[in-house]
Amino acid sequence: MTLLEIDLNKLEQNYTSLRNRLNQHSKMIGVVKSNAYGSLSGLIAKKLVELGVEALAVAYTQEAIELRGDGIEIPLMVFYPQVESFRDIILNNIEPVLYSKTSWEKFKEALSEEKKISYPIHIKYNTGLNRIGFHPDEAGWVLEQLKDSSFNVKSVYSHLAQTEAPKPNEKTEHQISLFEQIMDKHSQASSQKPEFHLLNTSGVFNYPKYHLDWVRIGIGLYGFANQPEWNKTLHPIAQLKTKITQIHQISSGETVGYNCGWKAPKNSRIAVLPIGHADGFSRQYGHGKGWVLINGEKAHIVGNVCMDMLMVDISDIQCKEGNEVEILGSGIRADELAESAGTISYELITALGNRIPRVLKI
Ligand SMILES: *Cc1c(COP(=O)(O)O)cnc(C)c1O
Repeated sequence: MTLLEIDLNKLEQNYTSLRNRLNQHSKMIGVVKSNAYGSLSGLIAKKLVELGVEALAVAYTQEAIELRGDGIEIPLMVFYPQVESFRDIILNNIEPVLYSKTSWEKFKEALSEEKKISYPIHIKYNTGLNRIGFHPDEAGWVLEQLKDSSFNVKSVYSHLAQTEAPKPNEKTEHQISLFEQIMDKHSQASSQKPEFHLLNTSGVFNYPKYHLDWVRIGIGLYGFANQPEWNKTLHPIAQLKTKITQIHQISSGETVGYNCGWKAPKNSRIAVLPIGHADGFSRQYGHGKGWVLINGEKAHIVGNVCMDMLMVDISDIQCKEGNEVEILGSGIRADELAESAGTISYELITALGNRIPRVLKI
């Protein structure tokens, strides 16, 4: 049976290591979007609150509502709230990020319908990622709006496009300088003292000068920092394990899997494992690009990954049916496996499907 085993002690080690890296006055937003990067958001959120994280963030409103349902009471930020969910945000005491004139006006309307004033919000500027955010030239408009008492601006932030790239990095420097101008404008214009943030996990490692008031840490908590040197300070918190379902002895020239994806070059032994692309283990890892560990040895995936199962070559590995297999964890890092197939740890871990039970390591 395939299981994702989550080790809260490792989460604690990562949290502590990241916290010790922060400037003394910087606070941490723990990012638990997408089921805490494919793990278990309720449990992870509770542990982070216990460890002292000052706020949590998710991508969409529904994720925040679920966390409120799990009993999470600390400030909860929604990075990408959609206008349809504004009422639910207010009813659940969640803090939206406002990122455009439309989102601003719609949220103001929702506040007046619910008869709320001084509601906590966050303001996002687009300094060059060109995802969401107010254009820096709209800062004047935003500041004008703040004279209204509807909003309590908890923070003003932006997001960098390539924090893991080696320094010096012209694009990042340009984004930072735009954000510095925005910080100046907000600091001067506002009677409330706004707080600022700019960095994700790799930014925390690469740009310690810009930890500012808050940092937004996601992948680092789960054990990845997007650079080998930085990775050494963290531990993957989740271990994806399974057991060999069946073993076949096949003759040279026989084929394995759909579309005869692999043809045995010699007499071979093949192990069948109960995980497939429906579980988020994508077809990208087929044809030898991906591998698993059996008794500490690498077994490469042969042919196409099926929907529910995949096959690995165990010709040179001593093992039998029922033996344990490591698919992801400390022996196979998600970032390394992802790279072999042209993707990133973020995609691999967040894709792991609901069919895989999450269990706590005890
Ligand atoms: C997901 C996200 C983060 C967290 O990034 P990591 O690289 O996982 O640390 C930070 N900020 C925003 C706006 C995000 O969407």
